[in-house]
Amino acid sequence: MAWTEGLEHILRQDEPLAPWNWLRLGGPAQYFAEPTTADELQRLVQRCRAEDIPVRLLGGGSNVLIPDAGLPGVTLALTAAVFSEIRVDGTRLRVGGGAKLGQVISTAAREGLAGLEALVAIPGTVGGGLHGNAGTQNVDLGQWTAEATVMTRAGEILVRTREEMHFSYRKSTLDELVILEAVFALNEDDPREVTRRMQKEWIVRRARQPGGDVSCARLFKDRGGMEARELLDEAGLKGTRVGGAELSDLYPNFVIAHPGCTSDDVLRLMDLARTQVRERTGVELEPELEIW
Ligand SMILES: Cc1cc2nc3c(=O)[nH]c(=O)nc-3n(C[C@H](O)[C@H](O)[C@H](O)COP(=O)(O)OP(=O)(O)OC[C@H]3O[C@@H](n4cnc5c(N)ncnc54)[C@H](O)[C@@H]3O)c2cc1C
Repeated sequence: MAWTEGLEHILRQDEPLAPWNWLRLGGPAQYFAEPTTADELQRLVQRCRAEDIPVRLLGGGSNVLIPDAGLPGVTLALTAAVFSEIRVDGTRLRVGGGAKLGQVISTAAREGLAGLEALVAIPGTVGGGLHGNAGTQNVDLGQWTAEATVMTRAGEILVRTREEMHFSYRKSTLDELVILEAVFALNEDDPREVTRRMQKEWIVRRARQPGGDVSCARLFKDRGGMEARELLDEAGLKGTRVGGAELSDLYPNFVIAHPGCTSDDVLRLMDLARTQVRERTGVELEPELEIW
């Protein structure tokens, strides 16, 4: 039996990945899979395990750099509605790993559930956000997470309780292949107040990051009280360009991919920025963008 048997309808070969990530860069996936049920996802993951085929999970594509040569094996996306459900249960939200973080936060605001509104301008999905514990300087997704359901690389489904998960700055112990679902335990509040705070945060944050139509990504982590954008500015790097990749002048710590840009240009720009920041400030920048 071929490993793809019975799964042909969810698999495509040589799928271009540029439309699937915020930088709009990178080559094709050897196989791209959009399972329509948890059962199909599990069968696919188990087959890949049995055949030793590499598997990756792509969320909203806002924090990954896909290589120009593309990706071997299977790239999975949780695009089916079944992976994006948002259910309200008192002060708890039970949400699918493929749900857009922005939609989860608007639902919470509408329901008068406070806590997540500070994260409203962060692009991507719940799964991507939990994997890297997305957040601002003061609030992160992990602190509101009561439970998560994951699928391991062997295809086993497990529930992680609050005690079994650890979150720190842009890190979480949720490193299984798939975060299927999460439960956020939030605080009851006046929906108008939560919405007002969410809208205020949206305006403040959008002034500090490129708009959604720009091909861009955040590059480095903020460490030890010093923001990466300040370090890049201090090293005189704003507006630096390597090929089609530019370290934004307006929003330092964001790379803008201009027409003709390649993933290799972004890698070379990151190398240059790290070297110059190290030489001029003595600080070692740590990439936030995941290099695949
Ligand atoms: C304009 C802009 C502003 C940003 N601002 C912020 C910010 O303020 N704070 C911040 O923390 N980040 C920020 N980011 C980075 C990015 O938005 C976050 O890291 C986001 O949480 C990534 O989610 P994603 O769904 O796009 O993940 P992807 O980029 O698709 O994937 C990132 C990682 O998560 C994994 N992953 C994705 N989905 C799942 C899943 N369901 N199960 C298991 N693993 C999964 C992937 O395998 C990969 O390892 C910003 C990015 C941009 C472009």
